[in-house]
Amino acid sequence: MKVSQILDGSDGTLFSLEVFPPKVAYSAEGMTFQQHMSNIFDTVEHLRKYDPAFVSVTYNPEGKTRATSIPVAAIIKQRFEIEAVAHLTCIATPRDELRRTLDVLDYFDIDNILALQGDRPDGYVHSSDCMNFASELVSEIRRHSHDFCIGVAGYPEGHQECMADGCRDLETDLSNFKYKVDQGADFCISQLFMDNDLFFDYVERARATGVEVPMIPGIMPVISRSVIGIVKSLCGASIPEALERRMDDNIDDPAEVRAIGIEHAIEQCRGLMDKVPCIHFYTMDMWEPVEEIIEGLD
Ligand SMILES: Cc1cc2nc3c(=O)[nH]c(=O)nc-3n(C[C@H](O)[C@H](O)[C@H](O)COP(=O)(O)OP(=O)(O)OC[C@H]3O[C@@H](n4cnc5c(N)ncnc54)[C@H](O)[C@@H]3O)c2cc1C
Repeated sequence: MKVSQILDGSDGTLFSLEVFPPKVAYSAEGMTFQQHMSNIFDTVEHLRKYDPAFVSVTYNPEGKTRATSIPVAAIIKQRFEIEAVAHLTCIATPRDELRRTLDVLDYFDIDNILALQGDRPDGYVHSSDCMNFASELVSEIRRHSHDFCIGVAGYPEGHQECMADGCRDLETDLSNFKYKVDQGADFCISQLFMDNDLFFDYVERARATGVEVPMIPGIMPVISRSVIGIVKSLCGASIPEALERRMDDNIDDPAEVRAIGIEHAIEQCRGLMDKVPCIHFYTMDMWEPVEEIIEGLD
């Protein structure tokens, strides 16, 4: 079933999950491939009782999850009977291979794709075989015989690389976003943000340009001080000063830092409930923080 149909059929706020499959033979921090796979399926198994609208599965832009992303999405769909959204990236996906990948997704009954440019690896050089921007990927997917439901990424604080005069160029980024949606996207999932006003403002600005697709906010539970560093450097999202200060004041007490992060996510979700179609949790393959947030919302 398409994400757009699931969202249309609901009158309340749904929630969804993102999981992050392993690179083959991945063994960061002593985690084996098997452990990483178990974390993913434990996350889905534990959280399925809350009836997630869909689970999205990330894709490594260097092709390192080529052997794992689609199988994980297929297992989520077939074993857990939850709709899967397969992320695909322009980077590392030549056009010929894209067609074959879409055939495989169709074969596994995966109706939903998140079409992305992909995080550019260091030293990345664009090849003419591959698409450059997510908008091109959306058009290519639209050409396939299967009528996929296509999601795209949106950036409440602007994309990190869209710069003018040393600042993020929100206007150009928004017009690139609008162009991408116009190529045939059906929904948007946002980059994580820590201040709901940034998301509401983004939706308002997008609507003003004529974007009508559902816009789903992305929430990441900040469960340690180091996650703040990751949020800032990888996503370029801003952290509310008060939140950062509270975390810093409790830096020697990891349990308290975690509790502060969960409390912040609960407050964010409270402010979003009934105003958005769905809340998307970046799980990092951990079910506990998401369960605490959902339970905290009653
Ligand atoms: C919900 C979500 C999920 C993600 N999942 C993954 C994943 O699984 N794997 C992964 O590698 N990365 C993932 N990312 C990260 C994403 O791939 C990067 O942020 C990437 O740099 C941008 O992707 P995009 O699809 O938004 O790109 P695009 O929409 O192509 O935009 C990229 C940049 O190019 C600019 N731009 C767009 N079109 C044009 C144009 N025609 N001319 C000039 N400039 C243009 C935009 O303003 C922006 O600055 C995800 C991000 C989000 C928000």
